[in-house]
Amino acid sequence: MSNSGLRNVRSVMISMLCSAFLCLAFTAQIALAGQTFTPIELNDTTESLALDHNLWVLEDKQDRFTIEAITTTLHSEFVANPVGIPNFGQTDSSYWIGMTLNYQSDQQNEVKSWLLELSFPLLQKVELYAPDDQGNYHSTNIGYDVAQNQRAIKHRNFLFPISLESNNPKTIYLNIMRKGGAVQAPLMLRSQERMLVDDGKSNYIFGIFFGVMASMILYNTFLFISVRWRAYFFYILYITSTALTFQCLTGYGFLYFWPLSPELNRLSLPVIATTSTILGFAFFRQFLNLPLLSKAMNRVCISFMAMGGILIIALLTAERLLSAPTIIYISVSCALVLTMAIIAWRKDSRPAFFFLLAWTTFLLGALSFTLSLLGIFPSNAFTTHGVQIGSVAEVILLALGLADRINRERKERYVALQDQHEAIVKLKQAEDRLVHRALHSRTTGLPNRALLRRSLDSYLSESYKDGFIGLFLVSLDNFHEFNKTLGHSNGDAILKLVTSRLSNLISTMGNSVVIDSTPNSKTYLAVAEGVTFAFVLNLENETQAIEQANLFLKAFEKPFEYQKMTLDIESTIGVALYPDHGDNTDGLLRNAHIALEAANTSNDKVAIYTNDIDPYSAKRLSLIAELKHAIENNGLKLYFQPQLCLQTGKIAGAEVLIRWIHPEHGFIPPDDFIPLAERTGVIHPLTQWICKEAFSFLARLNQKGYDLSLSINISARNLQDKFFKETVAALAKDAHISVERIVMELTETAVMVHPEEAMRVMRELSTEGFRLSIDDFGTGYSSLAYLKQLPVKELKIDRAFVMEMSKNNNDQVIVNTTLQMGHNLGLEVVAEGIEDQATLDSLTIMKCDLAQGYHIARPMPESDFITWLENFDAKPTTVTAAKI
Ligand code: C2E
Ligand code: CA
Ligand code: CA
Repeated sequence: MSNSGLRNVRSVMISMLCSAFLCLAFTAQIALAGQTFTPIELNDTTESLALDHNLWVLEDKQDRFTIEAITTTLHSEFVANPVGIPNFGQTDSSYWIGMTLNYQSDQQNEVKSWLLELSFPLLQKVELYAPDDQGNYHSTNIGYDVAQNQRAIKHRNFLFPISLESNNPKTIYLNIMRKGGAVQAPLMLRSQERMLVDDGKSNYIFGIFFGVMASMILYNTFLFISVRWRAYFFYILYITSTALTFQCLTGYGFLYFWPLSPELNRLSLPVIATTSTILGFAFFRQFLNLPLLSKAMNRVCISFMAMGGILIIALLTAERLLSAPTIIYISVSCALVLTMAIIAWRKDSRPAFFFLLAWTTFLLGALSFTLSLLGIFPSNAFTTHGVQIGSVAEVILLALGLADRINRERKERYVALQDQHEAIVKLKQAEDRLVHRALHSRTTGLPNRALLRRSLDSYLSESYKDGFIGLFLVSLDNFHEFNKTLGHSNGDAILKLVTSRLSNLISTMGNSVVIDSTPNSKTYLAVAEGVTFAFVLNLENETQAIEQANLFLKAFEKPFEYQKMTLDIESTIGVALYPDHGDNTDGLLRNAHIALEAANTSNDKVAIYTNDIDPYSAKRLSLIAELKHAIENNGLKLYFQPQLCLQTGKIAGAEVLIRWIHPEHGFIPPDDFIPLAERTGVIHPLTQWICKEAFSFLARLNQKGYDLSLSINISARNLQDKFFKETVAALAKDAHISVERIVMELTETAVMVHPEEAMRVMRELSTEGFRLSIDDFGTGYSSLAYLKQLPVKELKIDRAFVMEMSKNNNDQVIVNTTLQMGHNLGLEVVAEGIEDQATLDSLTIMKCDLAQGYHIARPMPESDFITWLENFDAKPTTVTAAKI
């Protein structure tokens, strides 16, 4: 062996000896202190060290071990903690964690300080036992049972300064406890500088997190104030409580918000987390609109909210911390909400989609954090703050979902409003058409007699000052010949030529009165009837009337050119002057007609009314006398026109129509003598007679086993009879019929004559049980709003609309709208004037209730009506409504 080899062996032996000695000395030192923990080595370069090995633990079930016992008798009971963070789970016990720290340094007697951090802020008791130079243990308790201001270092976690002398191992003990909750002890040693840096970092990250939460709360509060939508309200509460939950979990709440209230801190986490869960349910309900989406899920939500409420009461009143029930409640709730969100999503709920997306991001964050704890994911800024990042993403996504829902609902509401608006516009247009149709002639589009009357009425009452007002009627004498030879459509076209020449002339006259005006045009000419036109001029005297009438006749002297034909049209003019020839429109119209008739029968082409040329007064008087006579001597007959129920295809009733066959003049249409009877008051005995006859016929029908209704026409004058109801009710009683089977038909205009009286009588009739019907609907111009107030059960669309329905699209629209409006007002709708199968079919499709017209049957006398009924029953297919 060489020298050098010997030297080597020696040095090895010396070093072995030295180390053996050192070892002995070390063991002796440990033995002196009675400790055997494997030391955790630190040196000058140790900046931060996670204490996850060489930790020793001892359970103290009763929480009554003393430090003396721990350092002596109990010391051998300590067991090594498996590598990793000490985690004792849900427990009531207190735990002792022992560790030996050894600061190794080349320098002896060097003292260096570290900070020991326990970063689980939920511990009630955190007591550190560290020995002084003499080996006597001293304790410091800074668990959350101790207010922040009593701690040496105020911090969201638990911090202890630890001083170590170089090469002098020190054994310290931590005694930790949290009754009724989970206990763990993530421990870390850091130099002070390092602590400052690390604390700065985590404060920064949590600052961002809470900052985002706070700004979301603020932003959504503004949104809530502006849109006042409940989901926003619950959302704000939900994220506020979530942020508060994080404040508790991280210890920031205790540090900044309630540093002096340990008791509050003990309860804050479970109470706030449970509240947050309840608010989560509340938000979920509103956000997904659960009450509408699913009653069952809504009920589940409400029951869980109630359970949460009970849990909070229990938490506040129980002596001990109810950590386990809280955790179970929150976990089950989370799973439940997730399941419901999936179900809702599958039901096509868009908010549910956003909710799931938000939850998934949160869960991903939480998962990456957990996986980083388990060492499966690397530990970096993202994974360690996964829960916070996930929460922020969740909060933002939910806000987006809310905005999306509001946006969609706004759009839907807008579309609905637009639809409603369009429907109103359409209805208004239909109503306007109806009114226009009621006031204008079809062929010429000129104002009709009704509008002429209305305009003249208001002109006489409002604009007349002095002088005369002349009502001129111009009739085209030979016009019907053009209709016959050239056909009606050519006739209509020629009529337009004539009226436009007339209109042009009137509009240049300067003294003409406007009959109809729109923002764009004024009309001075109206149709009085057929091919008789009317206009009104302000005049100074009768002579001027004749002069101006002659101007018109002159205008007709020039032939009309139509399709290369030269047409001579002759005209006659009748004039009545206000105030001399009538002090109201009706009188003037009547007298202008008389003048016209006089002109027709004389050689003059123009006539002005005088008393002498009025042949009617006498003739009419005698006609009335004869009518009275006919009433008393059964000279009148009742005819019955069947009404078909379109739903059942059965005959539901009949309209009663009066017939007068005059011994000399033959058949006199009711349109001719009813107005006369109305004017002279004969209408009262007439209506009474009609009712009496009709009621006894109904009784006979009943005896034959027919349960039909009879519709009776009632005049405006009947409604002014105070005892009308009593009279007809008595007649019905005498005839032993049920008044429910009697329909009283009234025209709109009849109701408008003396509206208040009419209304009173109508109410009486309706209360008595009579059914009331509005006849000739569409020809008057009363508003629908007014009709709504009448106690009527039925609407009868005027035959003028129905008769041409199959040819005229406009009429079809009017009938359809009237039907819909009628049904909307809860009325039965009758269509009369059905003259063909096509009309009957389309009325059936439109769901019209009753149909009446020549196509079904003409009005018939009693015996014919009964025979017809029997035949109809025998073969009910005579008139068939389309089967739908
Ligand atoms: P109104 O109440 O509108 O009666 C319906 C009229 O239409 C009846 O004419 C009837 O014959 C006719 N009509 C029925 N179906 C058709 C059809 O398919 N095509 C056509 N072109 N016409 C049809 P009428 O009997 O000449 O009565 C005319 C008006 O006289 C009645 O109109 C009503 O205002 C009045 N009137 C008739 N009878 C009475 C009555 O007993 N008392 C009162 N106060 N007025 C009556
Ligand atoms: Ca009628
Ligand atoms: Ca009618």
